[in-house]
Amino acid sequence: MKNRKTVSGGIIVAIDPICKMDVDEKTIKFTSEFKGKKYFFCAPGCKKIFDAEPEKFTS
Ligand SMILES: [Zn+2]
Repeated sequence: MKNRKTVSGGIIVAIDPICKMDVDEKTIKFTSEFKGKKYFFCAPGCKKIFDAEPEKFTS
């Protein structure tokens, strides 16, 4: 699954794997690492859901 994309202006944004929202990697505070990959979340709630079952969202 693609979890990163480039938007207009060449800005790289990450996609929250839980709610599919675009999140700015430079300002985002909620991150998780799973199997050496970094994931970004829009809110602590999304991070919590991911941390509980990361396999579900990365397969
Ligand atoms: Zn989210």
